[in-house]
Amino acid sequence: IEARSVHQIQSGQVITDLCSVAKELVENSLDAKATTIEVRFKDNGLDLIEVQDNGSGISPENYEHVALKHYTSKLSSYTDLGWLKTYGFRGEALSSLCALSDFHVVTAEAHQVPVATKLEFEISGKLAKRQVVAGRKGTTVSVGTIFKRLPVRRRELEKNIKREYGKVVNLLHAYACISTGVSFSVRNTVGKTKNVSVFSTNGNRTIKENIANVYGAKTLSALMPLELDLEFEPSSAMRRASGNNAQSNRIQVCGHISRPVFGEGRQTPDRQMFFVNSRPCTLPQIAKAFNEVYKSFNVSQSPFVFADLQMDTSAYDVNVSPDKRTILLHDAAALVDSLKASL
Ligand code: ADP
Ligand code: MG
Repeated sequence: IEARSVHQIQSGQVITDLCSVAKELVENSLDAKATTIEVRFKDNGLDLIEVQDNGSGISPENYEHVALKHYTSKLSSYTDLGWLKTYGFRGEALSSLCALSDFHVVTAEAHQVPVATKLEFEISGKLAKRQVVAGRKGTTVSVGTIFKRLPVRRRELEKNIKREYGKVVNLLHAYACISTGVSFSVRNTVGKTKNVSVFSTNGNRTIKENIANVYGAKTLSALMPLELDLEFEPSSAMRRASGNNAQSNRIQVCGHISRPVFGEGRQTPDRQMFFVNSRPCTLPQIAKAFNEVYKSFNVSQSPFVFADLQMDTSAYDVNVSPDKRTILLHDAAALVDSLKASL
């Protein structure tokens, strides 16, 4: 019982809210090279969050391991951590979801179709049952009644579900916009309104088309390209991280931003999405910099921002929080100054 509760508490640190559930599942689908990803909510995610992809599927020799703690098929050695190419690398997501929810997986590799396998697990992550079912190529992961075994967390989520659902949809917008060549479809069933489409993208080749799918053509027409090339002295932290190799810190900011509109009138949704090397993340200091610049020119609303910050991997650390959304930029202050000046 002891070990079990420890596992649940630790799992609650990896999976903290609906956003972390959606993030982990969508990243797994992207890592599996999916080109279609369907996210289905029931009761805004309280009842179910399910992600279905057409990716590689899980190979049978991995069925036993996928939900075990620290199992990952993605990291071959610790040194790989420096240049992560895949989103996942800790092998904690499925194991945590297993401990926190009614969890199961249906998966099929291309050569197995139309035969798929449904996998059920014990709370510990041990494979409990495998069953032959009909299915398409790819993987469906179902997370029912999240936090069912953490009553306080569950009640908190129920209380704030409207806000939490809003946050998770915004996060999915960010993944859908940055993922060119991937069709996203997000659906929700609340009460009798079954399977309502929340938004979708069409496997577009450009981020611009993705933005048009998600936010509409009107938003797109209010945007202008954002292309900044910033360069500054690296801080000592960055020098250390790069093994004293970094002569300068060069950060390219690419994306789209709303044209400033002076005076009254709301042209674009008040939305800001930030990415570091195409990985969605929260960057409050950078968001603040954009807002301050717009404000200083008396622009009536804060800008719509889609900004991907391309930089050397030694310029930041993703390994600071289990959910990998918090990114530590070694030169945040210098970046903010330089960004404001260029904007
Ligand atoms: P990580 O992503 O850090 O490897 P996870 O706990 O998220 O750890 O997933 C464990 C393993 O399960 C992955 O390494 C992968 O082999 C497999 N897996 C999970 N989701 C999928 C998916 N959608 N498609 C294919 N394989 C998956
Ligand atoms: Mg993962």
